[in-house]
Amino acid sequence: MTVTRFAPSPTGYIHVGNLRTALFNHLIARKSGGTFILRIDDTDPERSKETYVDAIREDLEWLGLTWDRMERQSQRLDRYAEAADRLRGMGRFYEAFETPTELDLKRKKQLNMGKPPVYDRAALALSEDEKAALRAERGDGVWRFKLDHERITWDDGILGDVSIDAASVSDPVLIRADGQVLYTLASVVDDMEMGVTHVVRGNDHVTNTATQIQMIRALGGEPPAFAHHSLLTGPQGESLSKRLGTLSLRDLREAGVEPEALLSLMARLGSSQPVELRMSLDEIADGFDPSQFGSAPTKFDVDDLYPLTARKLHGLELDAVAEDVAALGVPADKAALFWKVTRENITTRKDLAAWWTLFSEGAEPLVDEDDRAFVEQAFEMLGDPPYTDDTWSAWTSAVKEATGRKGKGLFMPLRKAVTGRQRGPEMAELMPLLQVKPGLR
Ligand code: GLU
Repeated sequence: MTVTRFAPSPTGYIHVGNLRTALFNHLIARKSGGTFILRIDDTDPERSKETYVDAIREDLEWLGLTWDRMERQSQRLDRYAEAADRLRGMGRFYEAFETPTELDLKRKKQLNMGKPPVYDRAALALSEDEKAALRAERGDGVWRFKLDHERITWDDGILGDVSIDAASVSDPVLIRADGQVLYTLASVVDDMEMGVTHVVRGNDHVTNTATQIQMIRALGGEPPAFAHHSLLTGPQGESLSKRLGTLSLRDLREAGVEPEALLSLMARLGSSQPVELRMSLDEIADGFDPSQFGSAPTKFDVDDLYPLTARKLHGLELDAVAEDVAALGVPADKAALFWKVTRENITTRKDLAAWWTLFSEGAEPLVDEDDRAFVEQAFEMLGDPPYTDDTWSAWTSAVKEATGRKGKGLFMPLRKAVTGRQRGPEMAELMPLLQVKPGLR
């Protein structure tokens, strides 16, 4: 039975980078009829916020990435304490008292000597008396997991064979001086107790994975299968970390990006497979294969979401957008025509509003100076709405007759004057939607 999980920390809105992780895990579970867990990593009481938990659920639901079970780390603190006790009992857990400044100094010295900045385990040499003295002076220490200095290897679902020398890694701090359990331990306990079989996450976690494999084994478990996807960069390869705030799922939704566009792109971007619009998660899961993804950073361009969004909208029937159309105030008897005329002329649903404003209030006409007199004359020849299917041909024939203009020289200035745009829907279809007579204002 496949069990995967998406484990966000509720310290902010989730963004495209998180979505990649969520989607991969969701798809792996979905493909094999397994279980997908939403695990809220909220062991940090100061930074975790309930509003973000709600937002994460909302964002995932918007995308259809539903979960079979939700878990919260803050409700499992006793489980972590028990695991910590077991590690203590095995001599794999030790208290250390260095201040951040002292650690920093140690790191700088090591770097100066050309050595990797790995914690020197000075705390292991402390006697019980020395520890008691330090505790009295500085308060409780942090708790570190004592790594076995061996090579840690695994067959990564994306990176292939990974081998990390544990001696090149600092013994990880699992419990802070204030008693807060850190993610590295909590995650191991959860993955073991929840029977997680596959963990996909960003490759910024590779070192964590190495230490977690040792922790899982120490606690008597078998590590799950790990796969580490690359991190996203901007289109030029620039770091996205600062921009991720503007690439939150809610911002993209707000900007009118359609869920299928986002899912279709994220499920293939950075893999050897082409990005195509797919209209359901089953279609997206079909052919999804983590091993097709490369280890190099993946370039992400938010603009790529818009052609996919437009493509989805072009394929929709009126019933799929009826609510949006009605919300604009389009009369029910005009809704079908409104959608027919606009759907190939929008990138997102939000663009519908501008079209309805144009039809209901009139456009800001676009008139070249040379065409001004012609357009004025033409508007004098147009009656008041309502217009019909025949209005355009009757009007342009009359104008042609009166002015001698034809072809592009006839149609283009009128299109621009009526719609304020260079191109757009068929004019004959558009005229019956006009609620006010167009004119030069
Ligand atoms: N809360 C961790 C994070 O957001 C989860 C990492 C993991 O998937 O194990 O980075």
